Amino acid sequence: MTTRVLIAGFKHETNTFCKLPTDLASYRARSLYYGEEMRSALSGTNTEIAGFLDACERHDWEAVLAVAADATPAGKVTRAAFEEISGHILKVIDEAGVPGAILLQLHGAMVTEDHEDGESALLSLIREKVGRDVPIGVTHDLHANVTDLTGELADILVSYRTYPHVDQYDTATRCADLIARVLAGEIDPKITIARGPQLDGVDHGRTTAPGPMLSILAMADRLAQEHGLLAVSINAGFPWADISYAGPTAIVVAERDNSGAAIAAQALREEVWRTREEFTVDLITAAKAVSQARETGKPGAPFVIADFADNPGGGGYGDSTGLLRAMIDAELRNAALSSLFDPECVAACQAAGQGAELELHLGGKHEPALGAPIAAQGTVTGLFDGQFKLQGPMSTGVAVNIGPAALFTIGGIDIVLASRRAQNYDRQFFKAFGIEPARKSVLAVKSSQHFRADYAPIASGIAVVDEGGGITSHNFKSLDYKHLRRPIWPLDEF
Ligand SMILES: [Zn+2]
Repeated sequence: MTTRVLIAGFKHETNTFCKLPTDLASYRARSLYYGEEMRSALSGTNTEIAGFLDACERHDWEAVLAVAADATPAGKVTRAAFEEISGHILKVIDEAGVPGAILLQLHGAMVTEDHEDGESALLSLIREKVGRDVPIGVTHDLHANVTDLTGELADILVSYRTYPHVDQYDTATRCADLIARVLAGEIDPKITIARGPQLDGVDHGRTTAPGPMLSILAMADRLAQEHGLLAVSINAGFPWADISYAGPTAIVVAERDNSGAAIAAQALREEVWRTREEFTVDLITAAKAVSQARETGKPGAPFVIADFADNPGGGGYGDSTGLLRAMIDAELRNAALSSLFDPECVAACQAAGQGAELELHLGGKHEPALGAPIAAQGTVTGLFDGQFKLQGPMSTGVAVNIGPAALFTIGGIDIVLASRRAQNYDRQFFKAFGIEPARKSVLAVKSSQHFRADYAPIASGIAVVDEGGGITSHNFKSLDYKHLRRPIWPLDEF
């Protein structure tokens, strides 16, 4: 008899410092696909759901599709959103019957209004429904904050091994193939999790330059070989979550009786601690970045400036004005920024119409520490519905909708104004708005690291801006943590 495998995705990276709640509308705005919609929307994309679907074909499983939910990082997931999405998964189990196995695409850093650890709350509900014997495989983003309870409730846990995250499909494949071995009775896995007293680590997981993440992943592979481990994951953690257990983890999946699991987890934990100060990115001021861009960037070889402290992909509001102000002050030519979250300005552009000249008060609506609104005269050079498909290496093929959008041009600077927050990690964030990024001299993106996957190949240089004070700033001491376990590095002395 064909094994029925339930597939569901419920992702969120919750920045507890962000004032914007993550409600059901936030999921609808990014990705909320029910049942067969999951197949039509996500088959053939570089996502875990596509990987799970293909695994069902390969292993001759019958896929039972529940829901694939993802929302842009922001504040806590509301009770209503958590109940709707988790409730739908439980309802599908009720209707279709207890499946032979479950494959879950989670982020690993979800905080809800009711639960510090959204993932274990979801897993607990599923376990209550299906019991302990149904194998559950879980994929995580490497920015997961993972509790021991999650490790007890799942059978397989595997995380991405790349940042930018270009291995989402491959991570799902590794997870599903291990679940296949559980179903075949070949393995009886147990999960071991080790974490140290640190909030951030392994260079926040970057794999684009030699550094601790790549060396620790290589160490993890050696240990896996040496001890015959089934899977080893290194999570950098998500430090912008004021919860007790935030921070990096080493996660080992091994046969229940394999004593090498604890040895490997401990060795990796110690290496994550030893390398905690290693950081491969030079964070500089907006003024310095703009001055570098003016010297280096030219048409056909754009200089890329990333706004680290206001990255919507980490829960930032996406409307900070520090970088844009520096660009305007420097009177940059042939430059573009995408995108600035400002629905009010989009509406003003729509009302004024294409070609209109008007004064706007741009951005600066949410995070005073990152600059007040910029009052500037400019021209509406484009109006758009804000819908496009990603074509770069990350989440390839996934549909994006940044809502009604406008291109507003101030002197030599084109600014994409968006009605929804979104991280720019794909050249379509310019191309969809009539801008050919490769022809620009300067590109500014609201992203901290993911942009490198698609922009590094065309960049003549890259600068990363963090003036401190933003809710995705690397200056953790500027944030008011109340719930973290203490002492913890780098907030406390060791
Ligand atoms: Zn991540």
